Amino acid sequence: MTMAVQPHFLLLTYPAQGHINPALQFAKGLTRIGVLVTLVTSLSAGRRMSKTLFPDGLSFVTFSDGYDDGFKPEDDRDHFTSELKRRGSQTLNELIVDSAKEGKPVTCLVYTMLLQFAAEVARAQHLPAALLWIQPATVFDIYYYYFNGYGDIFNNCKDTSYAIELPGLPPLASRDLPSFVLPSNTYTFALQMFQEQLEQLSQETNPKVLVNSFDALELVAMNATEKFNLIGIGPLIPSAFLDGKDPLDKSFGGDLFQGSEDYTEWLNSKTKSSVVYVSFGSILVLSKRQIEEIARGLVDSGLPFLWVRRDEQNKNEEKEEEDHLSACREAILERQGMIVPWCCQVEVLSHPSIGCFVTHCGWNSTLESLVCEVPVVAFPHWTDQGTNAKLIADVWKTGVRVVANEEGIVEGDEIKRCLDLVMAHGKTGEDIRKNAKKWKDLARDAVKEGGSSDKNLKAFVQEVGKGCF
Ligand code: UDP
Repeated sequence: MTMAVQPHFLLLTYPAQGHINPALQFAKGLTRIGVLVTLVTSLSAGRRMSKTLFPDGLSFVTFSDGYDDGFKPEDDRDHFTSELKRRGSQTLNELIVDSAKEGKPVTCLVYTMLLQFAAEVARAQHLPAALLWIQPATVFDIYYYYFNGYGDIFNNCKDTSYAIELPGLPPLASRDLPSFVLPSNTYTFALQMFQEQLEQLSQETNPKVLVNSFDALELVAMNATEKFNLIGIGPLIPSAFLDGKDPLDKSFGGDLFQGSEDYTEWLNSKTKSSVVYVSFGSILVLSKRQIEEIARGLVDSGLPFLWVRRDEQNKNEEKEEEDHLSACREAILERQGMIVPWCCQVEVLSHPSIGCFVTHCGWNSTLESLVCEVPVVAFPHWTDQGTNAKLIADVWKTGVRVVANEEGIVEGDEIKRCLDLVMAHGKTGEDIRKNAKKWKDLARDAVKEGGSSDKNLKAFVQEVGKGCF
């Protein structure tokens, strides 16, 4: 009789917060169903994750991609990409060989977006592979259509009044499309990476795309294209805020930024649903003018707020002598709000005092707002954020979307207008809160035992790990 071997997944994550968080959560979910996981990322991220606690069954491996202090805007992107690929492939190959020697052979290789070289490694090693797509299924479909027969119609999409129709998706105006597919895109390398990603997947006979989303949320989009049946396995959110399978799982646990602890007491002192939480994620750097307008909108709204401003944003601003925000900061801090360099966002969003989330609509933040039932002021900037804002404002109807002026700035008055709509007890606010409750319940249903994401994940593990159970 042969003994069943415990399934062992290699999970390669891009070294950015928006990839690390869902990858870590995915890994924790796998360990709960008996899968061994080795999480792999570059040294630059690994160093900043020195406080991360990994559960039993989850090991962490880092490799040097040659950019150990992290990639900086002035660095050579092509060199970075090729080194990441070269050294990343080498690390994966070594791990596959070493794991077999140690009696824990790798069963499957999963990689987050933009790391398509992992699929090549898996093919060469005759291992099943899966892409962990960390944006909505809708965005996957848009890229698919863009590179498969619909490219021309995107080129006509130059103004916000023109909407394009793609099978299975709502009509999308230019502001609703990922910025990389617009004629105005200047990040050609990003578009090229998405193209390579799709080409890589197309080489597989049975391509596997795991999506951090759930069937009820994007029912049609999951199966919109003929080529790909996307597998909804999300939302990948710490268990304590979602299904309670692990009440101690209260944060992603892989923060790349230093937080401050002192906001909880302040939040505790606020009444239910009274605070505006403001955050633009881990990458975006706003212009000084935009920051001033946000400050103005918040001050004019009169609402208490907690605003995350990462250190690099604060440093940029300190260089400016005449700074409106500095001028009003003391008043803001004393009377109305708090500015922090980083926080545990899911914990903040699930705090009863939070009434609204002003967000850049990164996909993780979007899912966190849904799971924590927090109405949204959608304030997108680039990449998938416009599509996510469209889904929030027009499809799930859990928030309102800001309108920028002709210079692309969202003015303080507009921010105040949106805050008034979402926070007040008028029809818009009430409808949004009702929808937020509905989507929170559906998200929880998806991940509980027997829910769509729970079943999809187990079926996937069963399929790729056959012989292991
Ligand atoms: N986040 C956090 N604390 C903060 C700001 C952000 O923990 O102060 C987390 C947030 O919960 C989310 C991630 O950082 O999981 C940001 O990912 P998202 O996709 O929303 O945006 P990105 O940073 O990729 O633009």
